[in-house]
Amino acid sequence: MRAFAKTPCAGPRKNIVTTFSKLGLSRPILSALAKEGHETPTPIQTKAIPALLAGHDLLGLAQTGSGKTAAFTLPLLHKLSETPGKAQSMRPRALILTPTRELAGQVRERVAAYGAQTKLRNGLVIGGAPIAKQKHMLRRGVDILIATPGRLEDLMKQKAVHLDAVEILVLDEVDQMLDMGFIHAIRAITAKLPENRQSVFFSATMPREIARLANALLNDPVRVDVKAEARPKIAQSVLFVGKSEKMGALIKIAGEDAFTCGLVFSRTKHGADKITKSLNAAGFSAQAIHGNRSQGQRERALKAFKRGDTRILVATDIAARGIDIQGVSHVINYDLPNVPETYVHRIGRTARAGAAGIAISLCSPEERSELRNIERLTGERFGSSNNEKRKPRPTQKRFQKNTRKPQRKPQRSRPKVDSAIVREADKAVAGLSFMKQAD
Ligand code: AMP
Repeated sequence: MRAFAKTPCAGPRKNIVTTFSKLGLSRPILSALAKEGHETPTPIQTKAIPALLAGHDLLGLAQTGSGKTAAFTLPLLHKLSETPGKAQSMRPRALILTPTRELAGQVRERVAAYGAQTKLRNGLVIGGAPIAKQKHMLRRGVDILIATPGRLEDLMKQKAVHLDAVEILVLDEVDQMLDMGFIHAIRAITAKLPENRQSVFFSATMPREIARLANALLNDPVRVDVKAEARPKIAQSVLFVGKSEKMGALIKIAGEDAFTCGLVFSRTKHGADKITKSLNAAGFSAQAIHGNRSQGQRERALKAFKRGDTRILVATDIAARGIDIQGVSHVINYDLPNVPETYVHRIGRTARAGAAGIAISLCSPEERSELRNIERLTGERFGSSNNEKRKPRPTQKRFQKNTRKPQRKPQRSRPKVDSAIVREADKAVAGLSFMKQAD
C-alpha cells in the first residue's frame, strides 16, 4: 500500500509515448500545455488528437482521469483558432455538453487554461447560477460554450442562444447524462445543430441505448477505447460495521497517516451534512457538497478541497462522476450506493492520473444486498456475511488481507456504542479486523 505525502490534492502523472508537438498542435496551444506542465500525451490524447485534427468524428470509451478533456479540447481550440474572428452574439462555434455543473466548470477551467494564448472566448451555462448573467454573456458572444443540458435547453427556448453556427459538438460522460434523464434535452439540442458539424462522444460505458444514440449523432467515427489501459490501481476494502459505528470508523480512517485527502460518499444530503458536522467536531476540516447547497457553496467547497484547505469532502453522488481531483488518497463509501455502477464511479475519484488510491466501504448489516450487487458487478469478493461472524484476531492489522480460514465460533457481542466520538472511534478500530481487502 502506497503512503501519500501530506500535501494538497495534487498528484503524480505517468509519462507515455510521443510528444504534443508531434501530434500537430499549434504553437499557442503547445506553449499553454508547457505552462500546464503536460509534457507527454496520454494514450487517449495520442489516439484522439490526430483523428480530430483530421476532421473525423470520434467515439471514445473512457473515463475521467484518462486525460480525455484535453483530448477533445486541444484539437477543438486548434481548429477554431485556425479561422479566428470576433465571436458572434448568441452563436457559439463549439458546444461542450456535460452532465453536472461541477464537471462543466472543470471543463471550462481546462478550456481556459489550454486556450489561454488564443483569442477564443468561452462561456459557461449551468443550472443554479443566475440566468440573466448567462444571457448577457451569450449576447456579448462566445466561441466555445460549455453547458449542462437542462439550462441550455431553457436558454434555447428563450431564444437567448442559437446553435446553427456550431462547428464542433462534444458530448462528455454521455452515460451519466442519460442516467440523469437528459435524453430529451440532448435530442432537442442536437436537433438544432448543423448537419455538417464535427461530433465527439465520450462515455464510460456503452450499453445499447448509448450505442444507438452515438450511431444517430456520429458520422463514421474513429473509435478510441482506453478503458482497459487506464485501469486505476485502487486497493478496495470493505469494513463490516454496525450503522452506529460508522462515524467512529470514519474518524479512525481519516486520522491515518496515509489519509491525505478523502472523498466521503453519503447516500443522502442530510446524511452528508451530519457526517460533515461530526468530522468538524472531531477536528477534521471537512465540507459538504450536495444538491441542497447553493451553486456558490458547492464551488467554494470544491475549490477549498482542490487547494488542500479542506481535507475531506463529503458528497452525495453528485460528485461521483467526472470530478477530477488529483491526489485524493481515499474514497470512503460511508453508505453503500443502491446502484452498483455508482460504486465504480465513486471509487474512480481516487487513483487519478496514474496514482494509486484506497477505497473503503463501510457496510452495515442492512447493506448486505447492496454489497452483493457490487461484488456481482465488479467481480471483486469482499467477503460474505459469514465474515462478520468471525471472531476478530487481536493482532490483525488494518488493510491486511484477511487470510484466515472461516471459523464456526459465534460472533463476539459488539460493544455498546458510546456517544463520545473518540471512544466510538476506538471501538471501531476493534471492529476493523472484520475488514476484507480485495486485490
Ligand atoms: P481528465 O481525464 O480530462 O479529467 O484529466 C485528468 C487530469 O489529467 C487533469 O487534471 C488534467 O489536467 C491532467 N492531464 C491531462 N492530460 C495530461 C497530460 N498529457 N500530462 C499531464 N497531465 C495531464
